[in-house]
Amino acid sequence: MLLDKFQSMAGVRAELEAIGIVPFGAVTEKITSATEGVVNGHQVILAGTNNYLGMSFDTRCIASAQAAAETWGTGTTGSRMANGTFAEHIALEQELAQFYGVDQAIVFTTGYAATQGMCATLAGPGDVILLDADSHASIYAGAQLSGAEIIRFKHSDTNDLEKRLRRLGDRTGNTLIVVEGIYSMLGDVAPLKEIAELKRRYGGYLLVDEAHSMGVLGEHGRGAAEAAGVEDDVDFIAGTFSKSLGATGGFCVSRHALLEAIRFSVRSYIFTASATPGVIASVRTALKIITAEPQRRERLWENAQLLYTGLKQLGLAVGPSVSPVVAVTIEDRVEALQSWQKLLEAGVYVNLVVPPASPSEKSMLRCSVSAAHSPEQIDHIIAAFAAVNAARPVGIPVA
Ligand code: PMP
Repeated sequence: MLLDKFQSMAGVRAELEAIGIVPFGAVTEKITSATEGVVNGHQVILAGTNNYLGMSFDTRCIASAQAAAETWGTGTTGSRMANGTFAEHIALEQELAQFYGVDQAIVFTTGYAATQGMCATLAGPGDVILLDADSHASIYAGAQLSGAEIIRFKHSDTNDLEKRLRRLGDRTGNTLIVVEGIYSMLGDVAPLKEIAELKRRYGGYLLVDEAHSMGVLGEHGRGAAEAAGVEDDVDFIAGTFSKSLGATGGFCVSRHALLEAIRFSVRSYIFTASATPGVIASVRTALKIITAEPQRRERLWENAQLLYTGLKQLGLAVGPSVSPVVAVTIEDRVEALQSWQKLLEAGVYVNLVVPPASPSEKSMLRCSVSAAHSPEQIDHIIAAFAAVNAARPVGIPVA
């Protein structure tokens, strides 16, 4: 029957709820700052929110959102193609283009809509999408919708990418290479210097999803492409407002004048209501702030270093390098679940990631660091991991 396939998921949820563990769709009952709140009944430090620069509670962003709601109303009640393009959306597009030093920008209602829509539209039947195997769901979804041939290369493996580009021969002219700046699960940075070099050598177009790297990497916070010095080689940068800018929404910028024509072909742009004026206004303010206050980025990296080093010293299986995403890999799904719950009870909220959302068969306790965390909060997070680890008979196994 149609709904049978959902029975096993319902069973798993019921079992977890029966023992008081609700890791997916945990409810934030109260939120008092960018780093503190009450989740599932527990007062916690928020260490899994992608709020990298702590912008969600910036008083200037809140004031902008309030003023915009009063001036423009609570919603646009229409799509960008119809009545939903307000002067604020256009202003944000111009500011984003300026931020990236390009002429063209499109603002979407979510980051998902931006990446999915761009991948689905840029390539079509007869074209090729060459994507990193660990790509975000929005990239996979867009690639599938595009009707293009999908070829995956091994995660951040430039030898594998080169092999596949070489095999494509003349078809590279019809190929869209898609990578992320910082990968969302393990926090590793794509080897963009090498990828850009391959693109120069073999041809093709390059789209970089900077969802986790905008505001986080690069001297001006433009992301991994800026940090690698390859912005001129990137054809399209997609990103989100839901992480370092502390709101919701997404964007795509490009140095290609044709982006303006592409805009009117992207279904996730055409057939959905535009972002609310309050959101757009808060993003405009956040963009100005992250540009004017690079010290936030410095603070973020100091905190990332503290957390990464602290967890590593506990013997936990963290990723290969310091990053604002610090993921602790745990072999066993049940152990991951129990540890997630114990962390919550110890006053720390992190993301629980289990297959198929994790990049391997293993599970993860994924922390994301914020510039708004105090050193004491980072110490608390490390102490909570230490206590949870020590309480286990053999400690969390190092993967
Ligand atoms: N791309 C990547 C790489 C992401 O990690 C995410 C969100 N986790 C998105 C796109 C979608 O962004 P949003 O949640 O803002 O829609």
